[in-house]
Amino acid sequence: KQDTRIQRIASSIRVVPDFPKKGIMFQDITTLLLDPKAFKDTVDLFVEQYTGRGISVVAGVEARGFIFGPPIALAIGAKFVPLRKPRKLPGEVISENYILEYGSDCLEMHVGAVQPGERALVVDDLIATGGTLCAAISLLERAGAEVLECACVIELPELKGRGRLNGKPLYVLVESH
Ligand code: AMP
Repeated sequence: KQDTRIQRIASSIRVVPDFPKKGIMFQDITTLLLDPKAFKDTVDLFVEQYTGRGISVVAGVEARGFIFGPPIALAIGAKFVPLRKPRKLPGEVISENYILEYGSDCLEMHVGAVQPGERALVVDDLIATGGTLCAAISLLERAGAEVLECACVIELPELKGRGRLNGKPLYVLVESH
């Protein structure tokens, strides 16, 4: 039953070679969103994983963590906190810079969005090197939250991003090789 759901999700993801640049196999989740059953199965699997674990915060990473995070948050009765690219949030923020393959990037979170002692889940569509999720974990921990787990639809295991999450568990639905 679980396997048929995972298979449906995996086959609904379109892989686009050489996007946005040569050598990248882009995992396109917009085709998953076009299949309402695959989209629902994705959310349901995460909700089954996280119901009853005392999670009060679902933090979603811009931009595709904003697609999967909110339905999970609503279903488990948690708040949703957007972790945004620089200069998007209007209030006071804390920022975390991180290194990408080429250059660097930054995530920001509103001060006061998360209270010390809250139990948080971090959601994004995909983990590659793990740099993005590592920055997300840092933001939440700086705010005093406890990060229970990270959740992604897709993992690129060859890039070993799982090892960069400060020992936090990572739950993924699909591995792409
Ligand atoms: P990383 O920080 O290296 O783990 O990269 C993860 C972030 O970059 C996520 O927000 C993904 O949406 C995006 N990303 C990285 N590689 C890919 C890929 N091959 N296909 C789609 N998105 C990717």
